[in-house]
Amino acid sequence: MALLKRNIWLIYYLILATSVLLLVVSSISRWHDMEDTYRMRQTSLIEQWYGNINSLLVQQETIMDVVGRKVAEKADPDAMQKEFDRLEAMNPDLFAGFGLTWPNGEIAGVSSSLKEAMQMRLNLTQLDAARDSFLYSMMQEKMVIGRAYQPTSAGMVVPLRKAIRNDNGDLIAIMSGAFWLDTFRGIFTCDRSLPECADIKIIRSRDHYLLFDSDAGDDPDIYHYPMDERAYQRFLSTLGWGVNDGYQAFSGVPVSYLREAADGTRKMGVAIYDERYEFWLALEVDFSRFIAQVRNNVMVYIASFIVFNICLYLLFRLIYNSEEKRRLELLYQANHDTLTGLPNRNSLQQLYDRWREPPGYPLALQFIDMNNFKGVNDSFGHECGDRVLREIARRIKNNIEERDQVFRLGGDEFVIISRYYSEKATLDDARHLVAAITDTYSVDGRNFMLGASMGIARFPKDGRSLDQLLRSADISMYEAKRQRIPVCFFEDHMQDVYLRNIAIEHLLRTAVVNDEIFMMYQPQVANDGSFTGVECLVRWENEAMGGMVPPDQFIPVAEQAGLMPDIGSFILQRSLSELSELQKNMDLAFSVSINISVRQFLHEGFLPALLLEIKRSGMNHVLIVLEITESIFIEDMQQIIQLISAIHEKGIRISMDDFGTGYSSLSLLHKLPVDELKIDKSFVDHILDDASARQMVQSIIAIGKNQGMTLLAEGVENEQQAQLLRESGCDSFQGYYFSRPLMIDDLKDYLQDKVVS
Ligand code: C2E
Ligand code: CA
Ligand code: CA
Repeated sequence: MALLKRNIWLIYYLILATSVLLLVVSSISRWHDMEDTYRMRQTSLIEQWYGNINSLLVQQETIMDVVGRKVAEKADPDAMQKEFDRLEAMNPDLFAGFGLTWPNGEIAGVSSSLKEAMQMRLNLTQLDAARDSFLYSMMQEKMVIGRAYQPTSAGMVVPLRKAIRNDNGDLIAIMSGAFWLDTFRGIFTCDRSLPECADIKIIRSRDHYLLFDSDAGDDPDIYHYPMDERAYQRFLSTLGWGVNDGYQAFSGVPVSYLREAADGTRKMGVAIYDERYEFWLALEVDFSRFIAQVRNNVMVYIASFIVFNICLYLLFRLIYNSEEKRRLELLYQANHDTLTGLPNRNSLQQLYDRWREPPGYPLALQFIDMNNFKGVNDSFGHECGDRVLREIARRIKNNIEERDQVFRLGGDEFVIISRYYSEKATLDDARHLVAAITDTYSVDGRNFMLGASMGIARFPKDGRSLDQLLRSADISMYEAKRQRIPVCFFEDHMQDVYLRNIAIEHLLRTAVVNDEIFMMYQPQVANDGSFTGVECLVRWENEAMGGMVPPDQFIPVAEQAGLMPDIGSFILQRSLSELSELQKNMDLAFSVSINISVRQFLHEGFLPALLLEIKRSGMNHVLIVLEITESIFIEDMQQIIQLISAIHEKGIRISMDDFGTGYSSLSLLHKLPVDELKIDKSFVDHILDDASARQMVQSIIAIGKNQGMTLLAEGVENEQQAQLLRESGCDSFQGYYFSRPLMIDDLKDYLQDKVVS
């Protein structure tokens, strides 16, 4: 589960990383795409402009050459004026004026718009703005572009000069024409796709004068001085201009560049060179503008990225949450008992695992086991049993402190871990709790009571590990059951009993084959003192156990360990064979009482095996008495009633042993074909000195008589007891007063002595 949890976020992070990568890559590629598009647009623009300007100039050159030759030959200022005015009128938006100058600088004729200059008798060789281009044009075949200037308030003009030569190639005049600087603006603005922020410059390469600067606006001053030489060199080097490069390499070829301007801003530009008219045309845009556009585009990506990732995150969160919920549910299910909702054995185990460092204060571990809970299930059904268990859990929770922890170990076993203050306080609480859970239960209109036993182990006295504590509490719980008290604290000697039981179990497994088990027989007599029969009592002698082990010590262990079927059938076999032989030899018939433990009794195949054994021994069925105890009623009642009835039908009698000490209800007794009640020794012991014991014996006798049963008192040790019992109506006796249990040979002597003679 943790792996999935980790994986789910791993997948998320992988997708996240991939999408970040995708974002970066697509942003970069978008950047490149945009840059390419930008460059392409700049390049195609500048090529278009370059073509327009160049063809305009070529056309101008042709016109000036033709008209110049024509008017120079006549040398008539009036004719010139007429011709020039006609020319100017053809395109007044373009042409600002025309003039012809003799090679010595004197003006030969002008258009009307420049009449003033004619009247002032200006000499172009003496004019600052004109001299340079004038002299230069005399040396050139081609047309030459002059410096931009403002001849009149009408606006800035750009002069063009063309040397006029006769057929012999001799220079005869210089034709000048001026066109409005705004003409350029017209060319540039005709393209709508031009960014507003674009900066367009035309720079004359010969002397680095600006011919046009879209940034200049109304300020004509910038056209009066050449560009800073270093700035011009920097401009060339951004174009990749080498020391040995000539202008031809750049002629008509747009070159893109990125440069840093003097003010630190970066410019993204493209430049093209016109070799014939010797100027650079450059178009620049602020790089930050471009970046802003890229940013806007990338912003869209980032926004989609964020939206995508938020959705993705929410989706994963949803999956994770539902996974987590499921995990917690499973965890809860694994650690809780579904029936009662209490933490289960798993939880206790986890507590144990965490218990590396036990708390620094004393604790009490209370182990509760309900008595005869199986009876509830058998008598009233499992649904009823479940409801009772839920009710038990509820009562436990209601009767413990908030901070105490309660667990259901399974079945009818509960464990409580609480703070331990003192033996008295814990005992009081425990008794209170047991009283609460043994109070009347009402289910489906039926009221009944349930017994409970609690064993308490204290930390650290009775165990330091949770395992040890659980064992100690379990041991003391069994001690409580044994002593028939509600609550019992663990004591060290109980541990000895526990360990001894383990040893018993181990050695008992080989007891039958090692011939360590044998039988003794205790005579039973009628109230007139005549011998009626024997009770068969098993004995186990083992050296490792220190000799004789009493049956009430090893029989419960054999029961628990599942050894009872084997030992039980040995007891049957041995008793029946010894006694039937004795009966045959002595020609006597007396009853034979055999103790049958609960497990042995309920073991399937018990009855057929018993019948087979009786047949083999040749003993009469009617002489056999099976002694069973009330604890048998903890088991499935229906099965027991059937079994007892079947036994009874074979003529075998049933004796209820230890009667009055258990929990049997009188109504049950009524349903069963019981032939004999054995009054328990514990009552007989006190019959002389304890009125309540005497009363108990008397009521048992009354009940038995009422049901038509024989009454037998066991543990009779003296004549007074026998006398009192006789007077109370008891039918027969068994006890040391009459005889101790005897070995088969001693029994023979006893019978020889008492019966035969
Ligand atoms: P129980 O069936 O109540 O047996 C009577 C016990 O009382 C016997 O102890 C017997 O020796 C003892 N007893 C009889 N008269 C007197 C008396 O006057 N004074 C005293 N102090 N004791 C007397 P035992 O043989 O030690 O058996 C103890 C218990 O072990 C039995 O109680 C019975 O529950 C069980 N047990 C004995 N033998 C067998 C057996 O073969 N099979 C099974 N399943 N249980 C057996
Ligand atoms: Ca008995
Ligand atoms: Ca008994």
